[in-house]
Amino acid sequence: MKIEEIIDRFYVVHGPCCAGCDWWSPANSLAGECRRGPPVSAEQRFQMLGITGHSMRRNVGAGHVMTKRDHHCGEFKDEFDWGTLPPHYLRRIGRAAASTGRGEGGEGA
Ligand code: SF4
Repeated sequence: MKIEEIIDRFYVVHGPCCAGCDWWSPANSLAGECRRGPPVSAEQRFQMLGITGHSMRRNVGAGHVMTKRDHHCGEFKDEFDWGTLPPHYLRRIGRAAASTGRGEGGEGA
């Protein structure tokens, strides 16, 4: 199963969280970077993952804040049109009802 599908399935079950947020860019199926705010220092970048003073910062450098997929803040945004995804994919991730939510959607995809 691809990382994207793991994340989408998590979001469907879990509800609003980084995994389903338009600002989030996954690094793997568990964590990713929030691009809602400006880049921060390497040390600050990993603090929300519970990683501090880690040698990884020497190799990774500054960038966007990393968050776990189940985190949720007030800037959460999901404006993605899920109806553009193929119905079979939506069924597989448990979001079949959303596939008919917008205008033309549905057939033939
Ligand atoms: S829910 Fe908040 S912290 Fe998570 S990706 Fe969205 S804006 Fe960033």
